[in-house]
Amino acid sequence: MSQDTALQVNNLRVSYMAGEQEVKAVDDVTFSLYPGERLGIVGESGSGKTTLALALMKLHKPPAYIMGGEAMLDGSDILALEREDMRQTRWSKLSLIPQGSMNSLNPVVKIKHQMADAIEAHERGWTRVQIAKHIGELLGRVGLPESVAEMYPHELSGGMKQRVCIALAIILEPSVIIADEPTSALDVVVQRVVMQTLNEVQEQLNAAMIIIGHDMGLMAQSADRLAVMYAGKMVEVSPIGSFFSDPQHPYSQLLISSLPSPEEKRELAAIPGSQPSLLELPTGCAFHPRCPAVVDRCRQEIPLLRRFSDERRAACHLVEETAS
Ligand code: SF4
Repeated sequence: MSQDTALQVNNLRVSYMAGEQEVKAVDDVTFSLYPGERLGIVGESGSGKTTLALALMKLHKPPAYIMGGEAMLDGSDILALEREDMRQTRWSKLSLIPQGSMNSLNPVVKIKHQMADAIEAHERGWTRVQIAKHIGELLGRVGLPESVAEMYPHELSGGMKQRVCIALAIILEPSVIIADEPTSALDVVVQRVVMQTLNEVQEQLNAAMIIIGHDMGLMAQSADRLAVMYAGKMVEVSPIGSFFSDPQHPYSQLLISSLPSPEEKRELAAIPGSQPSLLELPTGCAFHPRCPAVVDRCRQEIPLLRRFSDERRAACHLVEETAS
């Protein structure tokens, strides 16, 4: 894989301020995203996935604050950009398909006007004819007929609305797309088709994509690499094949053993307990109260996300010891 990155996130920290108390929702997260690759980010709700996505777009709102770190895109740290520069960067270099995005379409504005607004906000100097042509092409790319441009969102099915959101996300051909739960609220068959469309347009653009979700099956089919988040931290990052065949972090192992397998009849393991409140994190490794492999060291020392093979990293004292 090329060492050039489409996006390089270093030591990102995002906190919610609850009065005097700092709640670390994204805690020292570092990862690379390579051109053309799809990085899945999974984790239970409250693990920091959506906060991470919003912070990268600088769409987070108080009481959430970026407390540190950088996100390098096209030679600039986007977290340091002024408001207007960030506005220009959004959609043209980095776009977001937000969670529940199909409900964010304005119900009383025709699709063509919502799409034209996104182009005009970036002052490309295109004529009306050029904009109309581009919208028609984009709708075709996401598998919708051109006639959808003349329709209102309420006239479209959930799957069609989500395709419009995908078209909006690629309207200015960004090099990075962040898709936050892109298929939630759709039925299973439509989920697969929408995900296929998203993958196809990402490939055509050779954009890098972050897919956030919790459907491991969907991740297995779409992602090249997978990052697992737990209580605000990344705890394992791995190519998708080795993640499923040889998960290293005990939390990843439990996530996989909780999945049904078509080949093997076995009892599904439930992950004991629940994710801790970010207000009261356990000492040491935040996973230790739920971890079947816990040792004394885990209760005192926070494990760092360390490389244990060329392409794999995990934050677990046991993995670290085995690797060394
Ligand atoms: Fe389990 Fe310890 Fe590894 Fe945390 S550091 S995942 S508690 S073994």
